[in-house]
Amino acid sequence: MIDIIEYPTADADLYLELLPPETTEQLTGAAEQFRNGSVMHINSTAYGGGVAEILHSLVPLSNAMGIDTQRAVISPRDVRFFDVTKRIHNMLQGAEGELTDDELAIYYGCLDDIAGEIDESGLSADVWFFHDPQLLPLARLLDRKTAGTRLWVVHIDLTAPNPWLMDRLMPLTDAYDLLVCSLDAYAPRKVPGDVGIFVAPPAIDPLAPKNSAMPRHKAADIAKALGIDSSRPLVTQVSRFDVWKDPWGVIDAYRLAKQAHPDLQLALLGLSQANDDPEGEQVLRSVTEHANSDPDIHLFFSPENLPATNDEIVNALQTHSQVLVQKSTREGFGLTVSEGMWKGKPMIGGNVGGIRLQIVDGESGYLVDNARQAGERIAELLADQELCATIGRNARDRVRQRFLIPRLLNDYLQAAERACAVAGQGVS
Ligand code: UDP
Repeated sequence: MIDIIEYPTADADLYLELLPPETTEQLTGAAEQFRNGSVMHINSTAYGGGVAEILHSLVPLSNAMGIDTQRAVISPRDVRFFDVTKRIHNMLQGAEGELTDDELAIYYGCLDDIAGEIDESGLSADVWFFHDPQLLPLARLLDRKTAGTRLWVVHIDLTAPNPWLMDRLMPLTDAYDLLVCSLDAYAPRKVPGDVGIFVAPPAIDPLAPKNSAMPRHKAADIAKALGIDSSRPLVTQVSRFDVWKDPWGVIDAYRLAKQAHPDLQLALLGLSQANDDPEGEQVLRSVTEHANSDPDIHLFFSPENLPATNDEIVNALQTHSQVLVQKSTREGFGLTVSEGMWKGKPMIGGNVGGIRLQIVDGESGYLVDNARQAGERIAELLADQELCATIGRNARDRVRQRFLIPRLLNDYLQAAERACAVAGQGVS
């Protein structure tokens, strides 16, 4: 089965007025090129996960820019499809092992059915973006008449993938005209043939409830309703309770900063925790122990009895905190970094992965290698409001320049143009 998701129309002007003039110019130029073309984004889930969130904002914006853009979601007949693709996802990020013949048969079989349905459905577009490994074999299975130009967008980290699986999957990329990945470092190393690679880092939607401007008093009220003393300073990390997000290190950093600022409070916000994630529960237990009943450490993980929606709470704590932290020891991109920076707050980030792309150390935030450095930066910032304001302003500006969703749309249009040239197809 394949479903088309319908969206209400977005107001492009509301986005454009937030952008630097050159981005607006580039985007309107690129959109103009595509006026007569049509674009399809296809992925494997309507809701949940970063890709769904990005498409949820990008597709309406693309239509608002005058490009006929659709979003399709597959729903495979065999429920085991997603068990297999979850294994594929983990293996591409480095998990060991091999898929069984049965698993491969489920993967290819489901996509073969879906390709047949798409070809028969009459759905067609000039340019197709196939998102993530779940859909990788689909381009090879579809008729060229249905999907003329094809791009595979891989949102995951392919720096140390399982070699057995790469040998089996990478040959499938030759059905694509171009590959798109999030960071240079995440590009697949071994692509057969000469399929080009385009880099398009993720971006946030500045108009989404999580990121749109929240009045200070509302943010303070939500913080209060969560049990935080809104008259005392607060430092927050918004993250799942996950080993790589280093919540223990955040607590250590807070303790160090608290020596200089005794009234400091800490919030660790992990509401997006999957209830059925046993690893997350273990991390939470260990972090709770590490917090040692400190009344100024607030751990949020239960989605029940909350005073506001998840998105409002994320927004409120980012808006209300004096300093934000994302002390990851490994991070694909780290949307929370751009989300926090967009609120005009100084962000202290682990010196790893995609965080390094977002924060320019000492200018639009700080990069740290350990909890001691993080603690020192928190203390320094809390003592200097002017420094907080300057770093926060630079942070917001950096996100405005580089990490808002219209820039990603522009990247996708540039990639589409390049792919059309490879496919020998024109759309303007
Ligand atoms: N998030 C949320 N509520 C929470 C914690 C996190 O909505 O309590 C969101 C956060 O705002 C961000 C996403 O989950 O949009 C996490 O994305 P990120 O790239 O930072 O990390 P990931 O969880 O994908 O490793």
